[in-house]
Amino acid sequence: MQEILDRIVAKARGHARRGRPASYIPALSRARRDLLGVSVFTLDGRTYHAGDHDRPFTMQSISKVFCLACVLKLRGDRAVFALVDREPSGDPFYSLVLLEYENGRPRNPMINAGAILITSLLPGRTSAAKFAHYMRFLEGVLPGKKLDIDPRVYASEFETGQRNRALGCLMKHFGVLQSATEDAVDAYFRQCSVRVTCDDLARMGLFLAGRGVDPITGRRVIAEGHCKTINALMATCGLYDASGDFAHRVGLPGKSGVGGGILAIAPGKMSVAVYGPALDPKGSSVAGFEALEMLSQELELSLYL
Ligand code: GLU
Repeated sequence: MQEILDRIVAKARGHARRGRPASYIPALSRARRDLLGVSVFTLDGRTYHAGDHDRPFTMQSISKVFCLACVLKLRGDRAVFALVDREPSGDPFYSLVLLEYENGRPRNPMINAGAILITSLLPGRTSAAKFAHYMRFLEGVLPGKKLDIDPRVYASEFETGQRNRALGCLMKHFGVLQSATEDAVDAYFRQCSVRVTCDDLARMGLFLAGRGVDPITGRRVIAEGHCKTINALMATCGLYDASGDFAHRVGLPGKSGVGGGILAIAPGKMSVAVYGPALDPKGSSVAGFEALEMLSQELELSLYL
């Protein structure tokens, strides 16, 4: 396995030339393009990593997976899916178009509108209280590590995130958002700015490979049915308008983030995290996507074989 990961990182790294770091959040644009890290945690307790696996980066939209897990656990699927659908949007993550046509009801929790709505369901009135609740959940799936936010990335998104504010306002207008707009949007910005490494992220994803149980601690994190729902949403919507391409090339539930991370879950087998900050136009790590495709092929991980 180690030899496979080293070879994949060496081969995939060059693909970063085809992409660029996100620039619409200015603090992300300074990342080095040639970085590439991979980390694998298996359900039977083995870990492997290669390349820049211990470089911190911000979770960005990968946080949507964990926020959804936290809110599903707390509120149950009936309450959540009364407010948000479970269908792919086929649109970019920031799109406002469908939201107006569909009366403020987001297509799924993996696009920004859906994630802001899910964030509005976190307990607490203020963004600080919501974020604190989310962080407790996150630290529960990464025992022993104190997580923090990257203050530059948070400030940068806070200043420039007008589209996300617009999504929040539109949902508030339709009476769908469950808290004050600024609190939901700000808690969303904070959760996007949480810093992790590939090692952290692959560890955090293990319960999703284990039917909702963390195989290392033996603790049930979420119900089995919620785990199935999250994996299905990642598989159909996790890479936005590139979800079909990801299903075809990698064949696993996955979630991208514009910080350059991608989390992929092989149910019953392993959790894999990659990091490479150069993105394609749809907001996914170019080299990370390549690395996952190679890994999936080598280990025959695709669910669609
Ligand atoms: N914070 C980013 C945004 O809301 C997340 C997008 C992503 O990672 O895909 O625009």
